[in-house]
Amino acid sequence: MFRPSTRSRPWPAWAGTLLGAFLLGAFLLGAFLPSAHAAATDNGAAATLDQAEHIRTKDHPRFVQMLAQLQSESPGLSKTEQWHLRYLQAWETTFEGNYVKSQQQLQDVIDHSGDTTLAIKASAVLLSNFGFTRRYVEAFTLANRLTAELPEVKDPLASYLLLFNLSQALNFAGQTELAIKYAHMMESTVPAGESLCEPLSMQVAALYNGKRLTASSPLLQRAIDTCVAAGQKVAANSMWLVLGSLYMDENQPEKTIALLDRLAPSISSNHFYFHMLSSQVERARAYAKLGKDNDARKAALAALAMSHPNDISEWLMTAYEVLYQVEKKQGHNAAALAYYEQYVVQDKGYLNDISARTLAYVTAQQQTLAQRLETERLSRENKILQLQQALVTKAVETGRLYIALLLLALVTIAFWLLRLKRSQLRFKRLARLDGLTGIFNHQHFIGEAERALRVLEKKGGGACLISIDLDHFKHVNDTHGHAIGDTVLKHTVTVCKHHLRPADLFGRLGGEEFGILLLDCSRHQGTLIADRIRLAIEATRVEVDGSVVSFSASIGLACTDAASYNLQHLCREADAALYIAKRTGRNRVIVGNSGDGDSSRFGT
Ligand code: GH3
Ligand code: MG
Ligand code: MG
Repeated sequence: MFRPSTRSRPWPAWAGTLLGAFLLGAFLLGAFLPSAHAAATDNGAAATLDQAEHIRTKDHPRFVQMLAQLQSESPGLSKTEQWHLRYLQAWETTFEGNYVKSQQQLQDVIDHSGDTTLAIKASAVLLSNFGFTRRYVEAFTLANRLTAELPEVKDPLASYLLLFNLSQALNFAGQTELAIKYAHMMESTVPAGESLCEPLSMQVAALYNGKRLTASSPLLQRAIDTCVAAGQKVAANSMWLVLGSLYMDENQPEKTIALLDRLAPSISSNHFYFHMLSSQVERARAYAKLGKDNDARKAALAALAMSHPNDISEWLMTAYEVLYQVEKKQGHNAAALAYYEQYVVQDKGYLNDISARTLAYVTAQQQTLAQRLETERLSRENKILQLQQALVTKAVETGRLYIALLLLALVTIAFWLLRLKRSQLRFKRLARLDGLTGIFNHQHFIGEAERALRVLEKKGGGACLISIDLDHFKHVNDTHGHAIGDTVLKHTVTVCKHHLRPADLFGRLGGEEFGILLLDCSRHQGTLIADRIRLAIEATRVEVDGSVVSFSASIGLACTDAASYNLQHLCREADAALYIAKRTGRNRVIVGNSGDGDSSRFGT
């Protein structure tokens, strides 16, 4: 019952019992609303599913047939269609009263369908289901969870359904203000093509339970008119029955009877259990108030006849109360006592149920609060962990940065050291070589020659020093220019190199003078090489502006066999031979001998 405080004023309409309260929310609303899938596809199976959902309360046997048919075609259905089918099967399982099984099925749809609207619908049925099985704590916990999810629900249909169920559940828990709030929120989310019947009905229900409604309340009249205009007969009857109950509250039993008489055909044709039960009980109360004991008894017995075994509800309690009063009034004490005992059972059961609901609501609130505190604590701890993690990551990053910088510095240093080394080597090489011809310069040639002669002396090998001086080179310069003179010098070097071995030393001693130290070379071999060089120079031609420049060289030769391994001696002797070559006509090789002034001559 929605209204714990008014035990003698039974809620006559939607929610005659706990079952009724939830049943309407989950079972009937789904039938009012268009299916979420209907517009999305015109596919045969999807259309059949929508149609089945639509008729589930209107033509239940046909609905069961359609479910069986859809189940047989299930392998051919899409994933979405299969979940829709499972939802309808869960609904049917609840309808059949197999609550434990249907709770699992519904939970499966909620957790795994991935379809928000379907999950909300399944949650609504689950809410009813918890209500049926009096699992109030679960019911209110679910309601709390749905409340938390409400801002995230974007689908208008799902949001509407959710608000409807929350309003129902809160009304059921005696939370009138919240129930009204959600009912008001429903008004702004009415799906296209639907009327305001449900939001207004929910407001009426909440206000009635909060004892804030009178028979002349404009809201009640508006709700009646809206539901009638929308053709929603069940909801319209609920509103009429509220009015009938209010007439009773306002001590106008005649009006209640007149109203119930008018509603009777519609109520019996709808065959909605709670309307049939509550209208009979309300009728019994009205007749009793009017002193029509027989009519009152008849109506009360009719109400009891349609109840189920072990039912506990405020309706049944009221029916027994009426019967007790009637029998007592008529002096049927035994019957009166029996009805009184039944009344006490109902009263106690009903009170227990109200306490259970209230306690469940408070418990669920506490659990939700505790859960939220726990979540907040965990999220705080998580934040601290994240910060620590970030700190560690930062330290690692900084470490990496330092290493990278260090490596960069090392690479830079290595690069500069390499460059330094290379330029040092370059300078060293330049310091040893002649800039124009690339062969050893005078100084380096002397150094290398002395070192080689020392080695050779130890070995006991022979060596010859060739001293070359180009003939009339001044004339070449004067005639053709200094640049051509340079070209001639370079050609001379190239020509000489052709006749040398890798081990031989070759240097420019100055101007147009060159020195060659032939190692491991006899006087005879040296003489032959010197003359070959002379001939090659003589044969060399340098082209200048069409004219050809030819030149020659005079060569003096000195060998270790006569002049010892002393370089100075060798130079002196080679120069002396060269001097003779010049003096005796140039372009010739003069081989110096042991220093006795005798020289042999080669060449022209
Ligand atoms: P001789 O046959 O007697 O040796 O006559 P010469 O003209 O070759 O003799 P001299 O030693 O008088 O002249 C050498 C010339 O070589 C003088 C100088 O201008 C020239 N000379 C010296 N170094 C270079 C150089 O690097 N490039 C050029 N183009 N000429 C040079
Ligand atoms: Mg010279
Ligand atoms: Mg010369």
